[in-house]
Amino acid sequence: MSTRVMCLAMLLMAGGFFAVAEEAAYTCYRIRQQMVIDGRLTEAAWREAPVVPLTGDATAYSRFLGTTVRLLWDDDGLYVGYELCDPDLRASWALTEGQAPKALKEAVWGPEESAELLERMAECFERHAGLVLTPSPEHELEWFWTPLGFVSHQWRERQADADGKDAWGGHQDWSCFGLRQAVCLDGTLNNATDIDRGWSLEVFIPWSALTPFAAGNRMPQDGDEWGMTLLRGHREDFGTEPIAFRWPIAAPAGRLVFLDRLRRFERFYSWGLPSDEDGIRQAAELGFTDATVNWKSAAQIALAKKYGIRTYAILMPTSGEWPAPETPENPRPWQKMSEAEQARWQELWGRKAERGDILGKVRNEGARGVDPSHYGGEPMVGLHGVEPARDMLGTRLPCLGSQELREALQKTIKAMCAVPELDGIAFDFFGFQNFRGCYCERCQAALAAAVQAGEVAAGPAGEAAFYLGQILAINRELVDYVRATRPGLLVMSHLYPVFLPQPLYGQQLPFDACGETVAWYIPWDVSKIYRYTKQVTSYPAGIPFLGYYDASRMPAFPYKSGPRLELELQAILDAGGKDIMVCSGTHILSCPEASAAFRKFTVPNRTGEGAKTGKRP
Ligand SMILES: [Zn+2]
Repeated sequence: MSTRVMCLAMLLMAGGFFAVAEEAAYTCYRIRQQMVIDGRLTEAAWREAPVVPLTGDATAYSRFLGTTVRLLWDDDGLYVGYELCDPDLRASWALTEGQAPKALKEAVWGPEESAELLERMAECFERHAGLVLTPSPEHELEWFWTPLGFVSHQWRERQADADGKDAWGGHQDWSCFGLRQAVCLDGTLNNATDIDRGWSLEVFIPWSALTPFAAGNRMPQDGDEWGMTLLRGHREDFGTEPIAFRWPIAAPAGRLVFLDRLRRFERFYSWGLPSDEDGIRQAAELGFTDATVNWKSAAQIALAKKYGIRTYAILMPTSGEWPAPETPENPRPWQKMSEAEQARWQELWGRKAERGDILGKVRNEGARGVDPSHYGGEPMVGLHGVEPARDMLGTRLPCLGSQELREALQKTIKAMCAVPELDGIAFDFFGFQNFRGCYCERCQAALAAAVQAGEVAAGPAGEAAFYLGQILAINRELVDYVRATRPGLLVMSHLYPVFLPQPLYGQQLPFDACGETVAWYIPWDVSKIYRYTKQVTSYPAGIPFLGYYDASRMPAFPYKSGPRLELELQAILDAGGKDIMVCSGTHILSCPEASAAFRKFTVPNRTGEGAKTGKRP
């Protein structure tokens, strides 16, 4: 059989027309795992993918030539994995058109046809694995790979021939840009004296190479179907007639069904929202449903509403409206730490605070390298369970037992409630600067009285119960005040700074959405993230909180990569997380790597009028 006729035979076998076998369907699942294209199908996603076996034709002796294929897809493209048993691996040619010296090509094929034949090398001469995709009835794409990783590909378009019948015009000069592939040989190549296991092939084809041929020029959506034929050509030797294995067993092509069954977060709470329309549109596209805003900015609130994002004013113990400014004679009721803690705070944070930054929006950037602070998060226990040097929050906080604080905050709440467009109030910083308690005179006396009255036990456990009670009390009172002042206004919170020794206590609070840290800015072990999420999602209002700062903007915080974020988000989902809360949403939006990671886990928020009518980014 001449080469040309043989190629035609292969073409017909590969499909060559867009008829689809109804009964043959392959379900291709969407994934969000990072795939490494190394020729080994070792990723968990491959193990979980459906396996499709290829069946040999009448001439095939298939006992030793088992062939299976799996496919997956994600935001970026299509993944195809082949496993081909072969007791005697054979391959000859690994050079592409550009790589092969002219003299070598001419020696193999003669001077005339070398370029065209080289293009079709894999299918016409070598053992190969093949793939034919029909993204639309008008277009067919075809790839062939050899055990040496040589690939040839072409696309065909439907044309009417002279008789008005369907014909296909081939384009062999096509380059499938972005194609990545790797082959793994399990055995010795071209050595018949031993028994080989076979070869595996891992392929990534980006949507950018496929969508020009797809209906609507878009990547597949959940439930979309393309035509597909999977092929293996086995040869006794280089250039001999191929023995075909394929799926479906006979033409026509099978159905490649794209399914998206990935769980995603339903509500996406963000601390922080851009103030410009482009930024807010991007936030909605990334799935933000709830965000804190500058509650005095009517423009930002209106834009958020336009894009379907609920808005919250931020209430912190430091945002109270006090009757008079603070003076040395008339100080605020600040929390008091122990002398040792105060000295340590001075060492860690005090230098900037001394220079008049009384609210302590302090980031002692140098401190982290010398003595890592966890910035209000849970300090990690050091080697052998020994607690590291005491960590504390840089921000000075008022005493949570203070009545004046309550009155000052109620004034602020009243003003917030008077903004009709606001959807809610978000509580933050209702905790202790030293994570444990306040040792001002009033608190000391109240603790002693509580012990005296038998409300709490004497000793550390009783003290912890007393101070947790203080946090719970002020939160409950202020939530009640919000609801009494404006019924229906939502109240959310991030429990911060962490309370020690009991970090998770949100179940005891009446918030509509209670964010509790399950993944801190400083990365935690994935098992801890999972365990904390289980606890936080055990009550209806509990929302897993994930901390993220762009390290290029906040150098005191470690770099969290896209894969790291994906790992954390996956662990939260796996533990039953339904919604997610983050800080800072604006950092995520401005970092392409972080946005891409979140996009895999969220659903664009298109509930707002702006999202429906505005242009898409
Ligand atoms: Zn106090």
